[in-house]
Amino acid sequence: MSAPMAAASVGLAELGFVEAAPAWRLRSEQFPSKVGGRPAWLGAAGLPGPARLACALCGRPLAFLLQLYAPLPGRADAFHRGLFLFCCRTPPCCAGLRVFRNQLPRRNDFYAYEPPSEDPPPETGESVCLQLESGAHLCRVCGCLGPKTCSRCHKAHYCSKEHQTLDWRLGHKQACPQAGEAPEEELDSMAKHESREDRIFQKFKTKISLEPEQILRYGRGLAPIWISGENIPQEKDIPDCPCGAKRIFEFQVMPHLLNYLKADSLGRSVDWGVLAIFTCAESCGLGTGYTEEFVWKQDLTDAP
Ligand SMILES: [Zn+2]
Ligand SMILES: [Zn+2]
Ligand SMILES: [Zn+2]
Ligand SMILES: [Zn+2]
Repeated sequence: MSAPMAAASVGLAELGFVEAAPAWRLRSEQFPSKVGGRPAWLGAAGLPGPARLACALCGRPLAFLLQLYAPLPGRADAFHRGLFLFCCRTPPCCAGLRVFRNQLPRRNDFYAYEPPSEDPPPETGESVCLQLESGAHLCRVCGCLGPKTCSRCHKAHYCSKEHQTLDWRLGHKQACPQAGEAPEEELDSMAKHESREDRIFQKFKTKISLEPEQILRYGRGLAPIWISGENIPQEKDIPDCPCGAKRIFEFQVMPHLLNYLKADSLGRSVDWGVLAIFTCAESCGLGTGYTEEFVWKQDLTDAP
């Protein structure tokens, strides 16, 4: 389950809210902004693989948090532009964050030149495997590149052992076309340990889909709004883009979204106040694919 975001202009900044929408609205060809579920990738080339989507602190796979459709008017090479934010949800870490930028010209290999239809497409149903038109296989759990496969059927793809285990417990154990052959004892025992974490994440996503409150503030080149006077970055704390350009503020995730994580009793381990995302001022096209940008995390300080 995932939820799209609506935007409302407030001065120069735009505020993002969570609203309900049918699933087809959240597919890549609709250019959605959304929270939770799987990423609706923009370009299908150069997707970040498991190594780039691993937590820099604990090494476990990051979870998709949200994506923003943020084209740059007047920039032919960024007619379509998406930002994809991932966070670590593995206790006790829950601290790693990574953000990726992808952009495409209006005429490209993946999407029609004309804007997408307003009408729902004919229902195609859920397929066993997720596959991009380019032929790349995606992890059934998180929708990121899935180079690993189920060792029995070789049809189900995964980004990592963690997600293979999760899917095993959530039903692939029964649904696997080769079910009943060699038992996967290792997966069985790993799966027992992951149920609580998964329940919490489901609860988080359900809540997100119900709560229409501000979760995001967008304002490329504006100043972020900080939640505390401490741990505000200086200019030197924001690394330049590898292309040589400065990075500028683009959007921030408001504490309201992060409150869900806390309320879900991942507890003391999740203590973000504000996440501020800084992107290349030139929105450069270094190579093709997904360019990593920079996240600044301002923690909540314990108020007296
Ligand atoms: Zn981590
Ligand atoms: Zn995965
Ligand atoms: Zn299988
Ligand atoms: Zn750059």
